[in-house]
Amino acid sequence: MTPIIDTGHGYNTPGKRSEGFYDTKGRVLLKENSVNEAVGNKLSFLFWQNCLEAHFITNEWYDVSLKDRCSIENKIAKYIKSKSGDPVFISIHADAFHVKNKAKGGTFFYNSERGKVIAEKMTNYFRNNGYGLSLRDPKKANFKVLRDTNSPAILFEMGFMTTQSDLEKLLSDEFRNKTALLLYEAIINL
Ligand SMILES: [Zn+2]
Repeated sequence: MTPIIDTGHGYNTPGKRSEGFYDTKGRVLLKENSVNEAVGNKLSFLFWQNCLEAHFITNEWYDVSLKDRCSIENKIAKYIKSKSGDPVFISIHADAFHVKNKAKGGTFFYNSERGKVIAEKMTNYFRNNGYGLSLRDPKKANFKVLRDTNSPAILFEMGFMTTQSDLEKLLSDEFRNKTALLLYEAIINL
């Protein structure tokens, strides 16, 4: 399948950060955008390296609304289908919880039946191939980017920025590489 990669939020989207975890100068340790984009870019690199097609919703230089993300997706999906391709929408995120050090692990979310099948396959693949964090069972969610996109769609919350042990992983390049590699392998095996 051909991925349409969404990296979730613009650089300065308010509130999307590792609240409660700061460096010595008082700066927040992680903005969600930076880990989403790092993994998304690595994922698209793997497709490029293997001469396969991958698309981005946006480069995230500006804040793009959910509505616009969906309409961009619809256009890209139409283009892929016009060439007899099979698009899959994947939105990459890092989660936050209002209580520090409480919630852990990743989750694949879906809305449609096809999305559910993909979320289940992805979860199994990640569990069986050494993803660095625990994975919850796939969960149905009424997110706009899952509902109003044309392709079968999943949204992946990689882990929690608001939990120390998850945050350390999300900040590590090794973990980001591994996550992108697992996403790549899972997608090409769909
Ligand atoms: Zn997010």
